[in-house]
Amino acid sequence: MGQGAVSSTHPRAVREAIFARAQERFGGFIRDRINSGTARRDRDSVPFSRELQREAIAIGLANYCAPAGFATDTATPDGAGSARDWGLLLEWLGYACDDLALPILLGYRHTLSTMLYDLGCGKGVSGAGPQPHVIDRFVKPILSGERFMSVAYTEGADPFSFRSSARKVDGGYAVDGYKSMITGGLTADWILAFVGNEKRDLMVVVIDAAHPGVKIEARDLMGMRSMGVARMDLDDVFIPDDHVLIRSDGLTYAQQFFNGRRLHAPCAAVGRIQHLFERCVADLSERIRYRLPVSEMQSVQARMGQMYVAIETARTVVYDALARYASGGCDPVWDTSITVSKYFAVEQATRVAQSLVYVLGGAAYDRAEPYERGLRDLQALIHIAGTQATLETDLGIKAIAAAQQRSMKSRP
Ligand SMILES: Cc1cc2nc3c(=O)[nH]c(=O)nc-3n(C[C@H](O)[C@H](O)[C@H](O)COP(=O)(O)OP(=O)(O)OC[C@H]3O[C@@H](n4cnc5c(N)ncnc54)[C@H](O)[C@@H]3O)c2cc1C
Repeated sequence: MGQGAVSSTHPRAVREAIFARAQERFGGFIRDRINSGTARRDRDSVPFSRELQREAIAIGLANYCAPAGFATDTATPDGAGSARDWGLLLEWLGYACDDLALPILLGYRHTLSTMLYDLGCGKGVSGAGPQPHVIDRFVKPILSGERFMSVAYTEGADPFSFRSSARKVDGGYAVDGYKSMITGGLTADWILAFVGNEKRDLMVVVIDAAHPGVKIEARDLMGMRSMGVARMDLDDVFIPDDHVLIRSDGLTYAQQFFNGRRLHAPCAAVGRIQHLFERCVADLSERIRYRLPVSEMQSVQARMGQMYVAIETARTVVYDALARYASGGCDPVWDTSITVSKYFAVEQATRVAQSLVYVLGGAAYDRAEPYERGLRDLQALIHIAGTQATLETDLGIKAIAAAQQRSMKSRP
């Protein structure tokens, strides 16, 4: 795809510069501290240690594009849009890092700290005024690596019938409930939990993971095993008033969080599938069958062509969402182009991972190779930041409504 046709603020215009800088600054860390331990973490379900996560902060990787004043590097060639640059960095990480859980975890924490920062500055989606204590008490320790925070929303219920509930007590709230999956929950100090209040609305509270009544246990998952996904049980847990960040309409904040995740999670997926594709080409080029490298067999070439189209179109759609977001053209709560991007990129990446199995033969099934782990890890994206099934339903509802509106308008 030609570079000349894109505006200077488009992701394609700065991609190479960001990739080169990332490789120079973080390539050694990824090779020595992440890739060397990927197979073991996956085999034994070992989460990224807190020390490793702190290293990612110390070298400027985790906060590469953090909220204003905390970022280590937003000086891109044209200086535009840190959300765009962060997306490109995540794509590079997905490519360079054998463990897809790292960019997914870093992206998740980035979305969370940005949301809390906006809330603290009074730029939150509900329009409430500034809450500086949110920045001092939570955002600063998170961005410095002193504390880690994760998000607990999912609990096997709809937002209007949450079973996790908070009741008012002296000086705060008492919370009971259960949350089924929490990314980074095993290494988090704080859990930002969405719970029902007495008015059957959602409130958002910060739970201290070490508090009596909080039980956090590892989940045994198909993939993303170093992401430290946990379940959480809450039994009469006291939440002081200053840990209640949002008292009502928490659902809007949950949507904002998932919207942010939908913007950035696919970037890492595109990077990972690009890496697996290239690795597959290298493998097949060296494998000789019937006196020919497998990569020169037409049936394989056709399949690789299909995969190439899938990856390129996924990247185009993801970049379109990044460019729109950077130019201020996206809805912060539920954006159609961001949702299309997550849905489409995940569909393409998971299909390509499956197609690699088709052309690779037994190597695709071998745990010593990266393909089967890639296949398992990518499956997680079907579920996170809104399942593919719910996104296609929501997009269908929107598309039908828009078409109906157009037809009403065109009636005489
Ligand atoms: C690796 C990983 C990490 C995760 N991390 C977190 C985290 O940090 N925090 C957190 O809160 N959650 C997390 N989750 C949970 C994830 O967000 C949920 O699995 C997801 O939202 C689906 O919820 P559920 O599992 O309860 O499925 P259900 O809601 O029971 O859905 C079951 C099926 O029904 C479909 N469905 C449900 N409702 C509709 C609808 N209205 N329209 C169409 N289809 C529908 C779903 O798409 C799905 O296919 C994580 C999950 C994974 C796999």
